[in-house]
Amino acid sequence: PKLSYDLYKGFPRKKAAKRPLRIALLTREPNNYSCQRLKEAAEQRGHHIEMIDTRRCYMAINAQQPEVHYDGKPLPQYDAVIPRIGASMTFYGMAVLRQFEMMGAYCLNSAQSIGVSRDKLYAHQLLARHRIGMPATAFASSPKDTKDLISLAGNGAVVVKLLESTQGKGVVLAETKKAAESLIDAFRGLEANFLVQEFVKEAGGADVRCFVVGNKVVGAIKRQGAEGEFRSNLHRGGSASVIKLSVEEKKVAIKASKVMGLSVAGVDILQSSTGPKILEVNSSPGLEGIENTTKKDVASMMIEHIELHAPVVNTAIRTR
Ligand code: ADP
Repeated sequence: PKLSYDLYKGFPRKKAAKRPLRIALLTREPNNYSCQRLKEAAEQRGHHIEMIDTRRCYMAINAQQPEVHYDGKPLPQYDAVIPRIGASMTFYGMAVLRQFEMMGAYCLNSAQSIGVSRDKLYAHQLLARHRIGMPATAFASSPKDTKDLISLAGNGAVVVKLLESTQGKGVVLAETKKAAESLIDAFRGLEANFLVQEFVKEAGGADVRCFVVGNKVVGAIKRQGAEGEFRSNLHRGGSASVIKLSVEEKKVAIKASKVMGLSVAGVDILQSSTGPKILEVNSSPGLEGIENTTKKDVASMMIEHIELHAPVVNTAIRTR
């Protein structure tokens, strides 16, 4: 039989779907901008899309017939699942997504790739292993090595980040070694997990968000922190503008998404004097900032990616 999967790469081969797809959007916030836009785009392209509350999914694990139950009934076989899993739902959301994978649905970002990107230490190690530029980063468990830990992160100011930080909430700048030591002592006292990173001063309180779909950066924005703020998060009052990326920046963003195994990713880059440095690779990047700033229809590009990659159940030969 003809293989519809590229077994070497582990990804389905490009093959356009010929009929409307049944898509599930896995989210706890069906009314937010990103979910509404994805729904709109899927429906505009003739597909059927359902919002599924991640936390309401439950399942029996058995070898015969994997299923996901919802509101007293088993869910149908979806062609594709779009995971929009918030940081607080990572653990359960990944289990639900794995179940959909077992049912044969094409998941726009696999449970495994989401897990990798959510584990900040692992993600940094993986990027480093693939020689992707990032700010010098250090972490340690024992409080005995604090001084050395700080010097591993460079000679100047450092940024201390709580591992569970989102929206810049647990990201603190220490301008001197003394300040860094006190900060680290305080975090340890709270039994918090954190990493220490070289402060990339020349980024000037700005970073670049690259939105990657498949093998392409489909849009990029520069986010500038508010006056006197080194964190550029839009949630913290940062402002966004369109930016044209260099070839190197594009390459690095695509490579970072690839090594994590993500088909859709928001790659955050600092523009340093020695080239792009990756801060983070986000597996559920929001659409609002990127679409409103670039005026691009990113939601439709995500749906198009599904059309090209979802194996067409019932009409094509199933190979597993
Ligand atoms: P979060 O995941 O909580 O948003 P980030 O690591 O993305 O945390 O940091 C938040 C913001 O702080 C970034 O968008 C960037 O503007 C700034 N920032 C983070 N790390 C550094 C660094 N090492 N040097 C300079 N600025 C940084």
